[in-house]
Amino acid sequence: MSEHSNATENSENKNATKPAHFIQQLIRKDLEQGVHQKIVTRFPPEPNGYLHIGHAKSICLNFGVADEFGGVCNLRFDDTNPEKESEEYVNAIRRDVEWLGFRWDGEVRYTSDYFDQLYAWAVHLIEQGNAYVCDLTPDEARNYRGTLVEAGKNSPYRDRSVAENLALFEKMRSGEMEEGSCSLRAKIDMSAPNMNLRDPIIYRIKKAHHHQTGDKWNIYPSYDFAHGQSDAIEGITHSICTLEFEDHRPLYDWFIQNLPVPSTPHQYEFARLNMNYTVTSKRKLKQLVDENHVDGWDDPRMPTISGMRRRGVTPAALRDFCERIGVTRSDGLVDVAMYEFSVRNDLDKTAPRAMCVLHPIKVTLTNVDEEQVEYMTAARHPTLESLGERKLPFTRTIYIEQDDFREEANKKYKRLVLGKRVRLRNAYVIEADLAIRDDAGNITEIVAHIIEDTLGKDPADGIKPKGVIHWVSATENLDCEVRLYDRLFTDEAPDAGGKNFLETINADSLEILQGCKAEISLAEATLDERFQFERQGYFCLDSKYHSKEKPVFNRTIGLRDTWAKMDDE
Ligand code: ATP
Ligand code: MG
Repeated sequence: MSEHSNATENSENKNATKPAHFIQQLIRKDLEQGVHQKIVTRFPPEPNGYLHIGHAKSICLNFGVADEFGGVCNLRFDDTNPEKESEEYVNAIRRDVEWLGFRWDGEVRYTSDYFDQLYAWAVHLIEQGNAYVCDLTPDEARNYRGTLVEAGKNSPYRDRSVAENLALFEKMRSGEMEEGSCSLRAKIDMSAPNMNLRDPIIYRIKKAHHHQTGDKWNIYPSYDFAHGQSDAIEGITHSICTLEFEDHRPLYDWFIQNLPVPSTPHQYEFARLNMNYTVTSKRKLKQLVDENHVDGWDDPRMPTISGMRRRGVTPAALRDFCERIGVTRSDGLVDVAMYEFSVRNDLDKTAPRAMCVLHPIKVTLTNVDEEQVEYMTAARHPTLESLGERKLPFTRTIYIEQDDFREEANKKYKRLVLGKRVRLRNAYVIEADLAIRDDAGNITEIVAHIIEDTLGKDPADGIKPKGVIHWVSATENLDCEVRLYDRLFTDEAPDAGGKNFLETINADSLEILQGCKAEISLAEATLDERFQFERQGYFCLDSKYHSKEKPVFNRTIGLRDTWAKMDDE
């Protein structure tokens, strides 16, 4: 089902042995054969939304091959559709690319930087008899276009003279023509089997304000006309895009052949990233935002780069994921478990450990003095000694998880049971004596005692604790909110086969816990740090809601795949 569903812990060193993908192979060949001396690629987002995990694949590919072969990669905003675009999106995209760890060559570029040149080339096509102004309405044009099995018909405006076309195109530019009244079309072949060659539109009238060019233009080039020519202006050697553009390649090449462009770029296509339980369409992601199904583009449940960042995913994890899924020309579906593997794997290596009780219940340790605070030391990371140690205040009252106590339990339950022992992580072994209940019968407090002299060693009496649980001092801790996330969609294919993806939204994808108790060292946590809360998963501060007065932690991901539940009870 997935392209690479066999990702396991063993594939750790895959980079050393991973065979080159087809883009790497063809670039290597081009360099060896002297077709190019220097590789130039580009990442060409349209600023009409925030970047998502599919874009991360494209970014890693375009910037990755440029880096690998000593070339450069441009960041070019494909801004030919002003109504849907904005400066907010431009800024978010720049930030996301940088955050992922990539640097574009020189300044950010815009297709709109080339509008004058593109206009001149459109005039050139007219002068060569290769373009004409067409007055067919969109409906008429559709009828004239034919179908996949039927040739199209020539537009009645196809044989206008060069002079007439130049005059009309000038009127389109100057704003004298109404939107929709006409368009400029390339004169190619209305019977071409490839529909993209049936006199495609190259300029439309749009009297829209543009975020870069203001009100200068009343006409805007089509994607097909703008893209390849922008590549040619920038000297792009390998214009890498997704497979849906394969059928546009003959048109891409036609423009390059019929225009006096300064270089001859080539387009190559790869398979877009599709992942189960995930939507990767900007239009649909925008709908989630606009209709308030989520809390903005950077909602930690969103598959956007900004959402993943806010959730606590590291750039290294995302790059690792993109590396693992590889680059192919066949469409596949990646298992979200593979993404989660990369996230977990990276955090495990780097995240300092800490303790936080999500559902606290108080434990009073009767043989610890009221005033006493004993500081335990614990390593911040099991293997990264450079991260140092932290101090854990140990006091007469502590919190443990409600789940970690039972009055009675069978042998499989390796936590605290009345009359039995458990080890407190980084501290003493304790034994439970009594459960105190409120009038409703709920346990409100556990009375227990510590077994003396059990720091770092088993009890002298030989009665060993069954397991280890985490805890936090009830008097010296950080009260916080914790946000737990689940998949945003319950359906493996949220938008497949005519389904309404909104109906597959997981109503329980966000759980907000108040009154969680974190170890006091976390009061010093900063927004760019990530932690493993022992036994609970990986967490970071939420960049939107966190404040010193009210700390808020996001769970990035659990410790293991909770959807393949391994119950230890
Ligand atoms: P969407 O379908 O989400 O609107 P798009 O292709 O319209 O995406 P662009 O901003 O034009 O969005 O995309 C910029 C680049 O990212 C393009 O080269 C595009 O091919 C690539 N890209 C977009 N989605 C994916 C994906 N799911 N996997 C890989 N590359 C992608
Ligand atoms: Mg696009």
